[in-house]
Amino acid sequence: MMIIMQEGATEEQIAHVVARIEEVGASAHVSIGERVAVIGAIGDREELAGVPLEACPGVDRVVAILKPYKLVGREFHPHDTVVDVRGKKLGGGHFVIIAGPCSVETEEQVMAAARAVASAGGTMLRGGAFKPRSSPYAFQGLGVEGLKMLAAARDETGLPIVTELLDPRDLETLLDYADVVQIGARNMQNFQLLAEVGRVDKPVLLKRGLSATIEEWLMAAEYIVKEGNRRVILCERGIRTFETATRNTFDVSAVPVVRLASHLPVIVDPSHATGRPDLVLPLSLAGIAAGADGVLVEMHPNPEHALSDGPQSLSPAAFSEYAERVRDLVRWTGKTIS
Ligand code: PEP
Ligand code: MN
Repeated sequence: MMIIMQEGATEEQIAHVVARIEEVGASAHVSIGERVAVIGAIGDREELAGVPLEACPGVDRVVAILKPYKLVGREFHPHDTVVDVRGKKLGGGHFVIIAGPCSVETEEQVMAAARAVASAGGTMLRGGAFKPRSSPYAFQGLGVEGLKMLAAARDETGLPIVTELLDPRDLETLLDYADVVQIGARNMQNFQLLAEVGRVDKPVLLKRGLSATIEEWLMAAEYIVKEGNRRVILCERGIRTFETATRNTFDVSAVPVVRLASHLPVIVDPSHATGRPDLVLPLSLAGIAAGADGVLVEMHPNPEHALSDGPQSLSPAAFSEYAERVRDLVRWTGKTIS
C-alpha cells in the first residue's frame, strides 16, 4: 500500500510511519516528491491492514497498490526517475545515445569504436566482455581483459561504459570497471542475479526477455529496486514472434506502455530487435517518437570482421550519420541529449 503524507509533513512524522510499517515486518520505501512524501509499504497485506496508519500524525491518506509491481510503478512514484551516469543524465527529459561493438575484441577495436562514438556525439560506450552466446562454440568474450580495454577507452574519451554481467561471481570485478551493469535478455528472469545487482551502487540496464511480457519485465525490475537499487534503465530489444523478416520483432508499443506504467527510463535497442543495419535508423526514430529516453546501437569499426553481431552493426561512418538524424528528432521531442 501507499501512504501519502500531508503537505508539510515533518521528517519525524515520516520516520514514525516507517517505524510502524517495519514493526509488522513489512518494508517501507520513502519517496520525497516536490510537494508531498509518499511511503510505499510492502509486506503481508493482512498484517499491514491491522496498523491504523491513517491515524498517524502527518498522514493524508492510505491507498492500495493494485498492480503486481509496486516500487517501479507510477502509482508509487509518479515522477520520472532520472538516472545519472557519471554526470550524464537519462530519463525525465534527458536522452542518451549508447553505442559500441557487440563484443570487445581487441584494444585497437574498442579504442576505434570509442573514438567513433565520441566524435559522433554519443553519450556512452557499450561492449560485451562476457558474452551470452547461443552456441557454446562461438566467441564467449575476453572476460576481465575486455573490461580493462573498455576502461582504457573510457580514460581516453570520457565515455561511461555499459557492459553485461552474466555470472554473479564476476560482479565485484565488473564493478571495478563498469559504469552501467547490463543484464541481458537471456537473464531477465535470473532472479538471483537481479537481486545481486539490486544491492550495488551502479545503474543497471535491464533488457526485456526474449519472450517476456511487459508485466514480467517490470516484475524483473522490481526485483532489483526491492533490494535498494533504484537506478534501473529498461531496454526494449525486440521479442520473439512468428515473423522471420527481422531477428526479433521490435515492440514499439512497449515504450509508451512502460512509460505510462513505470517511472523508470526506457531506451530502445533496434540492433538486436531487427538484426539488420538498414532498420536501425527507422526503428530508432519510431522508438524516439513513442517516447524512448535513449537508444542503444551496435557499431563496429569493421562490421565485416566482427566476432559477434557484425551483420547488424553500423560502421563508424553510418553511425555518425545515424546520430545526426537521431539528434534531429530528439530536439523535436523537446528532450535534451546528454
Ligand atoms: C547485447 O547487448 O550484445 C546482447 C547480447 O543483447 P540481448 O541481451 O538483448 O540479446
Ligand atoms: Mn550483440
